[in-house]
Amino acid sequence: QAKLAGKNCFRYYNRAMDHAVERRLYLEQELRGAWDRGELRLVYQPIFRTRDHMLVGAEVLLRWNHPTLGSIPPSVFIDVAEQSGLIQALGPKVLHAACEQAMQWPRNAAGEEVFISVNVSPRQLRNGDLVGEVETSLHTSGLAASRLHLELTETAVIGDEILAVTLLEKLHRAGVRVWLDDFGTGFSGLSHLRQVPVDGVKIDRSFVADMERDPDDLALTTAIIAMAHALGITVVAEGVEQRAQFELLSQRGCDLVQGYWLGRPLNADALVQLLEHDTAGVPGILA
Ligand code: C2E
Ligand code: MG
Ligand code: MG
Ligand code: MG
Repeated sequence: QAKLAGKNCFRYYNRAMDHAVERRLYLEQELRGAWDRGELRLVYQPIFRTRDHMLVGAEVLLRWNHPTLGSIPPSVFIDVAEQSGLIQALGPKVLHAACEQAMQWPRNAAGEEVFISVNVSPRQLRNGDLVGEVETSLHTSGLAASRLHLELTETAVIGDEILAVTLLEKLHRAGVRVWLDDFGTGFSGLSHLRQVPVDGVKIDRSFVADMERDPDDLALTTAIIAMAHALGITVVAEGVEQRAQFELLSQRGCDLVQGYWLGRPLNADALVQLLEHDTAGVPGILA
């Protein structure tokens, strides 16, 4: 009896595996031509400065709307792109399009130029010519290097510190800013920040989500902010969904904030609209 169940279970497991593998292969095949078919588009999520509520930048996020499968989340397709190597072609396209787009943006209400923040996946760091791609994008778009920020994940930077430090130094020489994304989720921790020359950290939204309820998360968030400031780097909090979170982060001196409460990812036109009509920043605060 048990043997039979085990066998069935095994068969079922196998079929489920086949299904997952097939689906992945199908996604990979579809993703290959998705950019050229116009199924991929970029959205921009505004980033605000806590001190004066100004919109100071935006993160570019990729969206895939497949004709039959519908909208596929980045958590799924970025992974497919990364595993298959497609990211090597896709990454530079996103970078380039984002720089071109940022050239269209008006200044913010404080008269400052707004930055564009682009996610870079681990594979782009290891295999590609990231510095060359950055220089090409800046050159062809005409965007000032200081307006381009790159978000690297903590895990991409650990492991090969020497390579990471060399790369970060080259990027700095190119004039762009580098942030560590999803900070706090890896194991590198705060001490790692001393070795890796980054301009800022983005506190992962899992800390922000539980900050009010979980004293450990609040303590960690507070510690990250203090430590980053001691090192002279910027702190961004992502995933701010409630006013209370915004206030806690402001009180603790977090420099920049991003999240659904402040602004959802917007299409290119909507972001321009926001910049043109918004004169005092953080919409939730004024509402
Ligand atoms: P990420 O870089 O950490 O981006 C932030 C993610 O949090 C985005 O998810 C954003 O929509 C979401 N988010 C922002 N505010 C809130 C909030 O208040 N609450 C919640 N629950 N979520 C919020 P998204 O767009 O689904 O992207 C997921 C991840 O996919 C990104 O995480 C990034 O790692 C990756 N990704 C997206 N676009 C690109 C890209 O062009 N290139 C690369 N390499 N990775 C990308
Ligand atoms: Mg990011
Ligand atoms: Mg993040
Ligand atoms: Mg995150």
